[in-house]
Amino acid sequence: MSPGKIERTLAIIKPDSVAKGVAGQIITRIEQGGLRILAARLVHMSPEDAAGFYIVHTDKPFYRSLCAFMTQGPCLPMVLEGENAIQRWRDLMGATDFRKAAPGTIRAEFASSIEANAVHGADSPESAAFEIGYFFSALDIHSR
Ligand code: ADP
Ligand code: MG
Repeated sequence: MSPGKIERTLAIIKPDSVAKGVAGQIITRIEQGGLRILAARLVHMSPEDAAGFYIVHTDKPFYRSLCAFMTQGPCLPMVLEGENAIQRWRDLMGATDFRKAAPGTIRAEFASSIEANAVHGADSPESAAFEIGYFFSALDIHSR
């Protein structure tokens, strides 16, 4: 297989994981998975911050609850880089519903509900660009 394109993606260790004290274990999986962390910060989102971040989900029945969940404490957004980083991070995360997530994935191990599912990952180059810009400026991102 030819090497994949080097991409950047936006990952978030969600408030449930930060509160449970498993952020370090999740970061270890990122590093052992061969993804480089280019930026990271703890953010306690306001309701407006969460609503703007999840704007594509405005019409979903779970939108209000999701925004409340994401503001319940600090989360840890990160910029990750690597070959096919967008899909590779989603593969490490596992399925949205942790009951359907493959064994060994982050959500299978750390999620406690379909909402409190431990981590977020951008799902396309377009969403990665929007989401990286939502949390980080160019000067925050350390190319290496
Ligand atoms: P993913 O995070 O896997 O990309 P989605 O973009 O579909 O999943 O949904 C965004 C987030 O909304 C999920 O990670 C989860 O926290 C929450 N969510 C998704 N579906 C549901 C649902 N049916 N009920 C409650 N919360 C949900
Ligand atoms: Mg999504």
